[in-house]
Amino acid sequence: MFEYAPAPESRSVVRLQPAYGLFVGGEFVDPTDGDSFTSINPASEEVLAEVAAGGVGDVDRAVRAARTAYDRVWGPMPGRDRAKYLFRIARLIQERSRELAVLESLDNGKPIKESRDVDLPLVAAHFFYYAGWADKLDHAGFGPGPRPLGVAAQIIPWNFPLLMLAWKIAPALATGNTVVLKPAETTSLTALLFAEICQQADLPAGVVNIVTGAGDTGRALVEHHDVDKVAFTGSTEVGKAIARAVAGTDTKLTLELGGKAANIVFDDAPVDQAVEGIVNGIFFNQGHVCCAGSRLLLQESVADQVLASLKRRMAQLRVGDPLDKNTDIGAINSAAQLARIRELADAGTAEGAQRWSPPCELPDRGFWFAPTIFTGVTQAHRIAREEIFGPVLSVLTFRTPAEAVEKANNTPYGLSAGVWTEKGSRMLWLADRLRAGVVWANTFNKFDPTSPFGGYQESGYGREGGRHGLEAYLNV
Ligand code: NAD
Repeated sequence: MFEYAPAPESRSVVRLQPAYGLFVGGEFVDPTDGDSFTSINPASEEVLAEVAAGGVGDVDRAVRAARTAYDRVWGPMPGRDRAKYLFRIARLIQERSRELAVLESLDNGKPIKESRDVDLPLVAAHFFYYAGWADKLDHAGFGPGPRPLGVAAQIIPWNFPLLMLAWKIAPALATGNTVVLKPAETTSLTALLFAEICQQADLPAGVVNIVTGAGDTGRALVEHHDVDKVAFTGSTEVGKAIARAVAGTDTKLTLELGGKAANIVFDDAPVDQAVEGIVNGIFFNQGHVCCAGSRLLLQESVADQVLASLKRRMAQLRVGDPLDKNTDIGAINSAAQLARIRELADAGTAEGAQRWSPPCELPDRGFWFAPTIFTGVTQAHRIAREEIFGPVLSVLTFRTPAEAVEKANNTPYGLSAGVWTEKGSRMLWLADRLRAGVVWANTFNKFDPTSPFGGYQESGYGREGGRHGLEAYLNV
């Protein structure tokens, strides 16, 4: 067996401060009525920094800073000038991408090869893309002179901390809004480094405000009377609470919520390519992906062949130190998320599905879960219905295309789906029938800033990315 030597990325490029305040009105400030909490490295449980938890008064201060910046500077500024700031931010992200990638892997637990080669290039690409729109909004298809909404409250999850920040902040700023963003409590650090980049780019004070904290801070932000827009990415449960909170107000809302995507493999699919797509679909980012291909639907005639290849491939996945450049699967983001994955995996066994993981040594400290598949899964099993948000794949089978569509759509979610087949006509036939915001054909988990992304049903509403993503921040 060929063994890899350790290839750790140096963390010396990251200079962490022992404690971080909130970023309000262009500077770092101490919370007035809030508290603080620690951010840890999930791969080692080492404390990385103390982070402020904003209280109701802090949220109010941030919203007022955003309002002032909107009224006096950013709202009236011509789009071509806003674009210059966004291009500058995009270039600074590229220049500091190694530092940002290492910090993202330290704070989140994701493998450095993903933060370096996927997250950071996409983050920069988002800012470049929306910078290009800032002076062309008249031609975006929303009529002449579309107006911004005002102050946007943005709440993001921990699975792609910087990328979700980019998805939120880049279109909001390009369209002339100012923002108050709350990162997830387990992954605040790259958002705070982004705040430094805003300072470095001379972004006018108050255009971007970062208020760290947990659910209570998020609730205070959503319920603030002076926000014009709420953009939320996170769980369906919290999304529903937010929808209730803003119901009956003029606040515009977009929700990007959970998913339980079907990845459908037909008997004419190129098996090796499909296996790579299945692995990428569920084990990328430890399966902490809202659009993860967490339900594998195999056509019965090739099920044994695909499963044998998949198990061979899974045995080669390297689980361990996120900063090692050869690592495929890093740490689970938090103890709470690990407990949730374990609970659902145990439910899979208890309900009668067969569990399999390759032999794999997990580190002693930190939060880890071996890549796992369940076969013999029925549609009634919890592991076929509920979002696990971890490296756990539920395998089901089907005989006909109609049965594949019926099983794929048998979910309260509707964020994404994958189809593996040689026939173009079959891809299009399925794409018409699958109730999912994104349908990938012979690939999976491909993202591009020019392409809209969003869900159906309990996966939320509104679109982020592309020209469609502008609409969420314009008064149209
Ligand atoms: P979560 O809903 O618990 O938390 C998301 C964010 O909301 C965090 O910043 C959290 O502090 C904040 N929050 C919690 N309670 C709140 C409240 N009452 N009011 C306002 N804010 C509150 O979700 P999570 O565990 O951080 O993320 C995992 C979920 O996110 C998964 O369900 C996943 O599918 C989803 N997700 C969706 C997308 C998408 O684009 N659709 C992308 C990434 C993650």
